[in-house]
Amino acid sequence: MSHIFPRHTRQLPPRAVSGEGCYLIDETGKRYLDASGGAAVSCLGHGDPEIIGAIKAQLDDLAFAHTGFFTSQPAEELADLLIANAPKGLDRVYLVSGGSEAAEAAIKLARQYWVEKGEPQRGKVIARKQSYHGNTIGALSAGGNEWRRAQFGPLLLDMSHIDACYEYRLRLDGESLEDYGRRAADALEAEILRLGPETVMAFMAEPVVGATAGALTPAPGYFRRIREICDTYGVLLILDEVMCGMGRTGTLFACEQDGVSPDIACIAKGLGAGYQPIGAMLCTGEIYDAVATGSGFFQHGHTYMGHPTAAAAGRAVVGAILERGLLPRVTAQGEKLAERLTDRFGQHPHVGDLRGRGLFRGIELVRDRETKDPFDPSQGVAGKIKKAAFEAGLICYPMAGTIDGRRGDHVLLAPPFIIEDTQLDELVDKLEPAIDAATRAA
Ligand code: PMP
Repeated sequence: MSHIFPRHTRQLPPRAVSGEGCYLIDETGKRYLDASGGAAVSCLGHGDPEIIGAIKAQLDDLAFAHTGFFTSQPAEELADLLIANAPKGLDRVYLVSGGSEAAEAAIKLARQYWVEKGEPQRGKVIARKQSYHGNTIGALSAGGNEWRRAQFGPLLLDMSHIDACYEYRLRLDGESLEDYGRRAADALEAEILRLGPETVMAFMAEPVVGATAGALTPAPGYFRRIREICDTYGVLLILDEVMCGMGRTGTLFACEQDGVSPDIACIAKGLGAGYQPIGAMLCTGEIYDAVATGSGFFQHGHTYMGHPTAAAAGRAVVGAILERGLLPRVTAQGEKLAERLTDRFGQHPHVGDLRGRGLFRGIELVRDRETKDPFDPSQGVAGKIKKAAFEAGLICYPMAGTIDGRRGDHVLLAPPFIIEDTQLDELVDKLEPAIDAATRAA
């Protein structure tokens, strides 16, 4: 018996031993099509020789140097590569080890910015109900995923949550998508006014929501209006692109498609593509300068931040995404995946909504298509889909979302950018019976 502390303590999962392209292989030789890249991580697939080579070369030169003493070439080059391809205004890159660390750094930097600017009364964060920003206490406080937050109430920080732009559930009959997008964004203005604009430091959101709502895409104009509101009240806009960034939606940053630039962005997952743990927080020159000309020190830091080996992996991964033509490929394969999902599930009695962008696709499951009533959480539909798919050799990412304060079931798909057409067929061929069986049994 191993002493490992597994995620699910009732059953130790199979032991993964190798990976080849879009497949993971366990110790019995069983192959699994990795249709979610773990949790939207493995964007280049498994066993990529160029990325592995870049990591090995870095290890030969320098594995680690603490950022309290040194910077390193891969860290500097990764920062330059990201800024050269980032939304307008972003100018500095703070490298960390994952998404939660990036979210924590973003929240703390936003706070320090206002302290440096002489507005210490700005201490309130507004985020969204359908959102997930990580599992550390600060990031979990910003997120609105009830299921993940439930046990930790007394520890969580007091942050406000408005609804995400959630057309399927919240658009009114007869309301145009544009009107709904504006109304959804105006909820931010109402919340800022309720709290007192001079007390609000930041608004935090995922451009395309991942783990709490299954690839929830914003209405056209939603984020432009959000940007306008943030500017009106001097509130910083933090966009969490940990899941939807790094090419997942067809552009390096998802927010490019919404025509907005944030003051602070968080990335992770696809940045290391699973080859190394790495994340980053990007901020504008203005925020950086406030710290640089103020106290001169961002009061934060982690031992493994700016890790040279992880940075070498990130540099190679971002280079590969940009140079191998993977961004247009994500758009093309994403459209093919969307077509296949519509073919199989467009009329399914328990599929309420199909949505997403690029190779980031969500399926919202409902007990009743007409009323949009979700399944009772006790039925664990998402978990049953995951289990049935896994048995059939398919890795997808089913989860409990947040619907009007209740739990709902979704499946998230985020396959590697290299996925072939035949593998898209295999994906839906394996997913359909898993969804059928789990929803029939519910
Ligand atoms: N933000 C978002 C949008 C995420 O999807 C996640 C992870 N699912 C995180 C933050 C946290 O990242 P990590 O698990 O690497 O800490």
